[in-house]
Amino acid sequence: MIVPMKRPLLFAPLLLLAFSAAAEPPPRVVVSIAPIHSLVASVTGDALKPDLLMPPGTTPHSYALRPSEARTLAEAELVIWIGEHLESVLAKPLASLGADARQLELMGAPGVSHLPARRAGIRESREKQADGHGHGYGSEDPHLWLAPANARAFVDATAAMLADVDPERAAVYRANAERTRQRIDALESDIRRRLDPVKPLPYLVFHDAYQHFEHAFELGSVGAIVENPEHPPGARRLATVRQSVRERGVRCVFSEPQFRSSVVDLIMEGGGARHGVLDPVGSELNPGPDLWFELMDELTESLVACLAPSE
Ligand SMILES: [Zn+2]
Repeated sequence: MIVPMKRPLLFAPLLLLAFSAAAEPPPRVVVSIAPIHSLVASVTGDALKPDLLMPPGTTPHSYALRPSEARTLAEAELVIWIGEHLESVLAKPLASLGADARQLELMGAPGVSHLPARRAGIRESREKQADGHGHGYGSEDPHLWLAPANARAFVDATAAMLADVDPERAAVYRANAERTRQRIDALESDIRRRLDPVKPLPYLVFHDAYQHFEHAFELGSVGAIVENPEHPPGARRLATVRQSVRERGVRCVFSEPQFRSSVVDLIMEGGGARHGVLDPVGSELNPGPDLWFELMDELTESLVACLAPSE
């Protein structure tokens, strides 16, 4: 496509006007993890660049803040996070945040759907799943961002909070939020269509991070290998999981890029399952407004490629 060089110059005075109208600098916004940072960045657009606290490739479970990250947090005017069930390390510093700093705990946002955490191991059936004591991080499954409906609720809550903290740019945040919602809708229909053929197929994951995704798209996960991603499973669980992989005809065993997969190799030994990788936080993606969309797209791609390979 050929773009005439003179065009941008014509619009330059208009742009200058738009920027000088906003006199107050935008607030300093800090977001805990990359998928949430992505949705927030999509709502802020060009109005402000939110800081990402926990770098990509790290896991929010058992994260330790570096001194520079603690300072970033202390200087924030608005902190956006999921809640203490996920980023437990932030609970203390956020409780002692300055009086003029605000925080948005997305777990409590209106319209968010909640699911109780599940115990690790192989579940007997899709009906008998929740027992409320899994994951070791309290009774709620904190991986809320993997359901499109929750992402929309996060976008709404973020736009409302930003409009309150920075009323000057409220209209920008609301318009960006509306665009983000439409983009989420479009991706959700696309994912639904792509996952439809693999819906009932049994698979096993490394840690139980995908319940919200599985619930949204009615997938056939049979369980998770570890309860706490930081702790390898005991010999007894390994043996029963390995047996179940064969008995239940598990098609795929998925590991995660940020955790060792030697356990996955052990479980697959001698069975007919294929190996795939699922990444619930987008650890290899560039932070920014597109990350959440790429993360959801990659989850879909990995599931389809492993469960129903085309060759
Ligand atoms: Zn997790």
